[in-house]
Amino acid sequence: MSEMMLTTLSNIRTVEDMVAAFRDEERCRRLLESMVWPNGRICPACGYKRSIAIAGRDVGKHRARPGLYQCSSGDCRFQFTVTTHTPLHATKLPLSVWLKAMWLLLQSDKGLSSVRLAEILGVSQPTAWRIGHALRLMVARENMLDGTVEIDHFYLGGRPRKHPDDPSLGRGRKGQAKTQKTPVLAIVQRPVDITPGSAAGDARAAVVTGLSLRAAGGAIAPQVKLQAHVMSDEAKAFMAIGESFAVHETVNHSSREYVRDTVHVNSVEGFNARVRRTIAGVFHHISPELADLYFHEIGFRWSQRIVIGQAVRKSRSGKESMKTLWSRVPPALQLVQVFRAATGRQMRRSPNGGIIIKSAVAVFG
Ligand SMILES: [Zn+2]
Repeated sequence: MSEMMLTTLSNIRTVEDMVAAFRDEERCRRLLESMVWPNGRICPACGYKRSIAIAGRDVGKHRARPGLYQCSSGDCRFQFTVTTHTPLHATKLPLSVWLKAMWLLLQSDKGLSSVRLAEILGVSQPTAWRIGHALRLMVARENMLDGTVEIDHFYLGGRPRKHPDDPSLGRGRKGQAKTQKTPVLAIVQRPVDITPGSAAGDARAAVVTGLSLRAAGGAIAPQVKLQAHVMSDEAKAFMAIGESFAVHETVNHSSREYVRDTVHVNSVEGFNARVRRTIAGVFHHISPELADLYFHEIGFRWSQRIVIGQAVRKSRSGKESMKTLWSRVPPALQLVQVFRAATGRQMRRSPNGGIIIKSAVAVFG
């Protein structure tokens, strides 16, 4: 993207800076264009790299507005704007509201509920809800994780509860069927390096139908490269899944082993804790159908951090260990990563006020 746009974004630190930067609709459009098309305009219908601005020309009954382009490919001639075929497609909201909303969501520590976002922006709650989902859809990542990858699982809404009156509640599938808890798989790529300036690795979570080899393995396979170095605890499914990867090392939690040299699952357990805290504290209840969207947002926040140093941490027993200190990428600069893969990801309003996800895949990211 252009140097000037990057400077504009770098200078946004406070709410006041943000409001000033996103005040003008024309400027917001140009900013959005430089983020969605960092390497020049691309036709969202065919991917052709040449198009012309047709602002001011007669198109049908009215004059083309600024920001309307036409694909130069003779077979295509598609007319588009920066929001065409993105989650902002055919939006009635000003772009300035979209950018403000995205900044506010990224500025908050764990995210904002649609009720809070609606209050701050002065839009309806359903509109705020759709804005939130547009963000979540855009930050879904498709690259496979590599290097050292930690895997773990947890239950959305806590562990399956054992009730004293129900002695038949067993382990595994039988136990899950009797509780409303949703099993979730979490995958975190460790940062390549922990010297200052290094970025955090990607983090993913996904709702799975169960923790069988087939269900959990099926969820991990498309996310992690086979040459990865996988670390997990000794859960039965993970022992089997680990065999398909180049290296699989485990820590034995049941015998109270948590760290053995570089073998541990501390990163993924940290991510798990963050997912559970965010869901409980900000979103309260989320349906398993939409859970993956929330996980995209939480995973994106996790990745938007940079190492700033190391500090010695002393445990209660007096044992010393090194702790990595992080700072997050400024929210305005995170916007560049949000809109980078916007084209192709599409959602529409459903007749009952919800959303329908038409495509979760970036086309020209
Ligand atoms: Zn085209």
